[in-house]
Amino acid sequence: MAKTRKRTVENLTEKREHSFFGDVLKYFDHAVQFLDHDPSLLEQIKYCNSVYRMRFPVKNDEGKIEVIEAYRVEHSHHRQPTKGGIRYSIHVEQDEVMALAALMTYKCAIVDVPFGGAKGGIKVSPRLCSVGMLERITRRYTTELVKKNFIGPGIDVPAPDYGSGAREMAWMADTYATFYPTDLNAIACVTGKPITHGGIQGRTEATGLGVYYGVRHACSYKEDMDRLGLEVGLEGKRIAIQGMGNVGYWAAKFFHDGGAKIIAVSEWDGSIYNENGINPDDLLAYKNENNGIVGFPGSKEIGGPGAALEVECDILIPAALENQVNSDNADRIKCKILAEAANGPVTPEAEQTLLKKGVILIPDIFINAGGVSVSYFEWLKNLSHVRFGRMEKRYRATMNHNILDAIEGASGSKVSEESMNLINRGADERDLVYSGLEETMINAYDNIRNRMRDTEGINDLRTAAFAEAIDKVAISYQNLGIWP
Ligand code: GLU
Repeated sequence: MAKTRKRTVENLTEKREHSFFGDVLKYFDHAVQFLDHDPSLLEQIKYCNSVYRMRFPVKNDEGKIEVIEAYRVEHSHHRQPTKGGIRYSIHVEQDEVMALAALMTYKCAIVDVPFGGAKGGIKVSPRLCSVGMLERITRRYTTELVKKNFIGPGIDVPAPDYGSGAREMAWMADTYATFYPTDLNAIACVTGKPITHGGIQGRTEATGLGVYYGVRHACSYKEDMDRLGLEVGLEGKRIAIQGMGNVGYWAAKFFHDGGAKIIAVSEWDGSIYNENGINPDDLLAYKNENNGIVGFPGSKEIGGPGAALEVECDILIPAALENQVNSDNADRIKCKILAEAANGPVTPEAEQTLLKKGVILIPDIFINAGGVSVSYFEWLKNLSHVRFGRMEKRYRATMNHNILDAIEGASGSKVSEESMNLINRGADERDLVYSGLEETMINAYDNIRNRMRDTEGINDLRTAAFAEAIDKVAISYQNLGIWP
């Protein structure tokens, strides 16, 4: 029977210790000590360039008018368009959107995608809204963005975030296109669209897959694993995940398929545990059927939504919202590696506690950048008007076939059927997206880790990531010729 307890995952949001944007400013101030840039240039980077707060009326299902509050913040225009998701949540507030927009600037810089950072938010609870109401809100929000020039393929390109998905992006693209019917590139005004509406294979799972690639690579460094008392690689590593939404589910799936063990998961209705491992696909099916995860066969309930964060594990993955590991629970966190799949899940105070315990904290601005990386591929696909792999897939398959034939002819031995199937094909769009994302995450991690290793005084990956990102943004401002 479906659960009727009237709680939503938004219950995870408790009052913050202080301003989220304030936290980002703190990270910024700490990181710039290790850089040598003009103070006025750093000031230009630090704050948000444009903050658009809007209110607009929408007719609800009863025909009454509701006034909706919403935001779009563009943090940095050192590169255009600006880029970032739109959050649908009743807890949306200006400070949060500003913080998330700033994180997008740094995230894009770290993974080398040529965008400035932005973020949007609509103060609405998507679970309590009808689909019709959500559509009216989304279309009106898009119209407000058009009116103020806050959306466009070369201006600002939204994407899904917490509470939104491909459906909302399709509504946005359609609304935008009605204003610019002759713009050949109109579809590139948002990313994260359905495949049938200009989306790209692999975007749905991109953030979770990026978390997997990033953590897997972090676990390949023997000296780092030795320090934690862990083996190199993911095989058998015990993982706890907060949140079985899009990011949490896909991360869980890739880790599970990659040989790790998902021992604890939490959702809005509580946390579950199974020392022998939880199958993410079975859990998702259970969650969809029962509107929650508590009661999943073979698991035991260990407490509320925060309990999974506190289990003893090798890798902890908060994949829900900000402010989840804070000064209330930091002492009780017992992981060796923490990967911030959500944006801002660990407060600066909690981070200090974890670092003192020797935890390797892999920061959000790197580890959850898979989403925007694949958004970049989608944007490129839209602008080039051709699917990745379309031109060369068959050619490659034929070439591979010819090479195999030649090798078999020369050696006189037969390649096995299994190897044949692996080699005898060209890359399709999903293969190319996965490969591009893997390369992106590996490169970015190495850049951050090298900066930490090579900079005296930087002892954590977040400071290294901020320093790396701010440096890149500063250099691109300098390249614009504004600063010497
Ligand atoms: N909302 C996602 C993020 O926080 C994706 C942004 C995008 O694809 O533009 O990174």
